[in-house]
Parts: sequence; structure tokens; C-alpha cells
Amino acid sequence: MKNLNIFDITPFTMTDYTDTLSAVLWFSECNMRCQYCYNVPVVLGKGKITFDWLMKFLNERQNRLEGIVFSGGECTLSQHFLELLGEVKKRNFKVKVDTNGTNFNVLKTAISQNLIDFISLDFKATKEKFHAVTGSNLYENFAKTLRFLIDLDFEFEVRTTIHADILNEDDISKMAKFLEQNGYKNSYFLQNFLPTSQNFGSLNEPKNSFDTTKIKTNLDIKLRNF
Ligand code: SF4
Repeated sequence: MKNLNIFDITPFTMTDYTDTLSAVLWFSECNMRCQYCYNVPVVLGKGKITFDWLMKFLNERQNRLEGIVFSGGECTLSQHFLELLGEVKKRNFKVKVDTNGTNFNVLKTAISQNLIDFISLDFKATKEKFHAVTGSNLYENFAKTLRFLIDLDFEFEVRTTIHADILNEDDISKMAKFLEQNGYKNSYFLQNFLPTSQNFGSLNEPKNSFDTTKIKTNLDIKLRNF
């Protein structure tokens, strides 16, 4: 039996894909361990959804849902990522992919085959803080994906989660500058950390405050949960 690496499904959401009634596929496994990540059970979990079950689900949702969101975990790591994108597109759903951008070749292949409509790309941290925030050395992989999407004029958004003890206003200003220097022109989404009972860094409410007015950038900043 195929292991799709899908831990769970949210069958209906209006908030994960703008203006698109969607279901979310939560893929297990990730190549990062972000301190603030509260999807610990998903990241450490095993795939539970079978291929047959998923195909039945998609067939039943045709004409009732508009989109499917591939999220996780890091969905691009699933061995069946491209195949599943194909199954979803065959049924005429729109596809959004949430990704940390580190699996460049797979994303490039999916885009070249017109299997993705929209990407939410996580920009985790400055180069200097990338390892401390994510537990990985994958900054250059992220940067390559970012430049690729910009050069292609692909429809995507960049977003950063902020825990004020980890990233401060200067860090975000530097990250925004990096985006601008690379030609990013869309909105830059900043999501405030949500305290949860479990996250990889055992983080609680930050001791520091974060003043969004101190961010220096020409980009349009969009705030979530501030
Ligand atoms: S927040 Fe980090 S650890 Fe959690 S799923 Fe996303 S990339 Fe992986």
C-alpha cells in the first residue's frame, strides 16, 4: 500500500486559501524543526490516509469544493507529491501549496507541469538566524526557490512567523530588504506567534514586544494575529 504521508485532512475551510472553498491535506514529516511550530503531531506523525480513501474523497468533493491545499509538515517531501497534485488537477481543483521552499527541484517540476496555482512560501529567518529558528541549514535552498518564483512571475506570497524573542524588528526589516532586492513586489505577510500547549522550542509568550511600526520597508506589510 502506498504511504502518501498524509496525516490528516481538514475537509472544509474558507480561511486557508483566499476566496477558495478548500480542503487541506496535512502531510507528515518535515526537514525543519522550527521552534514555534505547533504542528508537532503532524510533523512527527505517520501517514494515515490511504490512496483509495483520498481518491473517493476528491471524487465526492468535485463541484462542491474549489481548491485543495497541500500543507503539513513539508508536503513536497512526500514521494507521491507530484502524483497527488496530478490527481487533484485532473479533477479540476485549484491547488495551493504551503511550503518552506527547500525542495526546489520538486517545486520546479510541479510548476513546469502546471500542477500548482498558488504558493505560500515561508521565509523563516535571516541567513544568520536561519539555523537557530529552523534547526536546518537550508537557507540557500529557500533563497533559490524564492528567486525562481520571482523570475517566473509566479503567483505566490511570502510569510514569516514572528516570536519576538527570536525575530525582532531589525531582522524583519533585513528580510523585507532581501525580498525587495530580489524583486519581490507582493505583500509580505507577518504572522504573530500563537502560544500553544506544544511546539518544538517549548516556547511560551515572548518576553519582548514587537512593534510593527519599526519595520523599515517599502513592501506592503500585511499582519495576521497582531
Ligand atoms: S513550521 Fe517549520 S517545522 Fe513546522 S511544518 Fe513548517 S517548516 Fe516544518
